[in-house]
Amino acid sequence: MAAISPVLAPAETIEKYEVVIGLEVHVQLATVTKIFCSCPTSFAAPPNTNVCPVCLGLPGALPVMNRRAVELGVQAAMALRCGVNAFSRMARKNYFYPDLPKGYQISQFDQPLAEGGWLEIHVQPEGQEPYRKRIGITRLHLEDDAGKSVHEGFKDVDRYSYIDLNRSGTPLAEIVSEPDLRSSDEAVAYLNELKQVIQYIGSSTCDMEKGHLRCDANVSVRLKGAPEFGTRAEVKNLNSFRFLKQAVEYEVARQVAIVESGGRIVQETRLFHTESGETIGMRSKEQAHDYRYFPEPDLVPLRVGEEWQAKLRSQLPELPYDRRARFVTDYDLREYDAQVLTSTRDLSDYYERAAKASEDPKSAANWVMGDLMGAWKAAGVEAADSPVPPEFIGELTTLIKRGEISGKLAKEIFPKMFAERLAPSAIMERDGLKQISDTGAIEKIIDDVLAANPKQVEQYKAGKTAVAGFLVGQVMKASRGQASPQAVNDLLQKKLGA
Ligand code: ADP
Ligand code: MG
Ligand code: ZN
Repeated sequence: MAAISPVLAPAETIEKYEVVIGLEVHVQLATVTKIFCSCPTSFAAPPNTNVCPVCLGLPGALPVMNRRAVELGVQAAMALRCGVNAFSRMARKNYFYPDLPKGYQISQFDQPLAEGGWLEIHVQPEGQEPYRKRIGITRLHLEDDAGKSVHEGFKDVDRYSYIDLNRSGTPLAEIVSEPDLRSSDEAVAYLNELKQVIQYIGSSTCDMEKGHLRCDANVSVRLKGAPEFGTRAEVKNLNSFRFLKQAVEYEVARQVAIVESGGRIVQETRLFHTESGETIGMRSKEQAHDYRYFPEPDLVPLRVGEEWQAKLRSQLPELPYDRRARFVTDYDLREYDAQVLTSTRDLSDYYERAAKASEDPKSAANWVMGDLMGAWKAAGVEAADSPVPPEFIGELTTLIKRGEISGKLAKEIFPKMFAERLAPSAIMERDGLKQISDTGAIEKIIDDVLAANPKQVEQYKAGKTAVAGFLVGQVMKASRGQASPQAVNDLLQKKLGA
């Protein structure tokens, strides 16, 4: 049956409404084995090979909590500034689904692992001033993942569905935000910040292509100034930033059109259709009581006492948002640059070493973000396997700062540094690229250049001082870029003035 596309409201009508969004984000915790059994969590194994009675949900099989999953969940909660509950427990969430062999998911309900955190997002909407905003995090809880249904065939020809239970029992942390987000841009900024933090501390790889980070978006609209939230629809399983943005924008236009025409939004679960960019109603939304939650009788409650918490906290690295702020003050970076340089832990570590080895950390930042990142990209490598160690960037920028090489010469040295893994000083030595700051040698070149360009010298003396730029260029060229530009300028002025 062909879907009937609903009416979408135009932008000027949407203007009258306020958008309200809350995200539920699932991240796969980076354990080697599953949450309640010792099957591997490895990706892309042949279907139904990483399974055992526990994750197959066979009657009588008993789950055992994976300690590492708890630790990674606690550290994620701490990085999101949540309070970790010393006492929490798992709960059964009962529902039927073909890829859920137990007939229930083991999750957490009234006593989650952690509650009450926040993240600061940096939003840069197109054509508007950037701003920051604090987004509340309601809770973080642990749960097991379901298996996967794989559908094949087209229309009514060769249509089969298969179940792969390799993923069944993979540990997840679900992170629920407050309904604090007010636009698709804010939703994307929040997911981005969350991903960065979780990835940075290593609780999850957050690899979206492997489904290690998935997001459900709850979206509602209300007339600006209305006292109550509107009814929300939940769009399930968004696995890219682009899809999140598209899904939210589609939902907003769909809901506004319904409300404007006097209709009512039904609370429901919707699917995002990646090809058409539409959301499609899947089922009316369950309420918590539909799931018949009850405490999981096969697992003891989870106790994460003060001592264990302190130990896990002490193992956390400096958090990316703290490091970003420190880069701004310690190295005099712009906020945006600090954000780029802390986007991954490896990159932050790399830059920090370069900055420490440099007499000009700001210039080191520019080299890392410019030439170096460009070269990494072209060579298909990242900070961790850079052929140029950070100390070389430190040395290069120090030489520029001290006036021992010009920026131009540095640009010549850099590709050699990258290709041959040699320090800047070693390349200069080998290629005889020493900067000429010996005044005698530069004066000699200047005299030659002035003799060869009498017309320009005439013009200069007649008051056309702009030709000085041309003459400096000629001197630099004659010195093969090795003369100190400052010295050339000074000496040339002196000679022309004389
Ligand atoms: P459930 O578990 O049924 O999905 P929750 O109470 O956990 O429901 O809420 C899920 C998400 O919905 C949260 O992120 C919350 O911020 C968001 N949310 C709640 N009410 C609204 C609303 N009216 N509009 C948009 N989002 C909402
Ligand atoms: Mg939900
Ligand atoms: Zn198993």
